[in-house]
Amino acid sequence: MTDTCIFCAIAARTQPASVILEDDHTLAFMDLRQFHPGHVLVIPRRHMPDVRALDAGTGAALMSTIARVTQAVTAAFPCQGASLWHSIGEAADQEVPHLHFHVHPRAPNDGLLRIYPAPPSLPARTDLEAHAARLREHLNSAAVRHRP
Ligand SMILES: [Zn+2]
Repeated sequence: MTDTCIFCAIAARTQPASVILEDDHTLAFMDLRQFHPGHVLVIPRRHMPDVRALDAGTGAALMSTIARVTQAVTAAFPCQGASLWHSIGEAADQEVPHLHFHVHPRAPNDGLLRIYPAPPSLPARTDLEAHAARLREHLNSAAVRHRP
């Protein structure tokens, strides 16, 4: 826990939030912004800035809570889809530096999360293979090994 993190304070229940689910490792609560009703945030109780700091146990608990919350959101607020998202850093518009996943109901053509501002390139297979090789090299490095 950090002294200044609003999500740590919510997890400690020293700041108000509309909590829908909590267990030993995770907490889920209503986002203050409800573009579509049912927008929920899911966080690990333990402070960590983003998914890169996640250990396997917390990750499993977090994904389990995300799946449960997504089932509840889509049942309680009938919708034609849902988006799950997690932003890392300023360039991705991460607003609170405590790992959180958004669970957001979606409607057709609602304009949320437009992924590509322009048509993306479609590289040749050789370029994709080069990207894959670069990533495999990092996956095998000590810094990116799976955290038990
Ligand atoms: Zn925190």
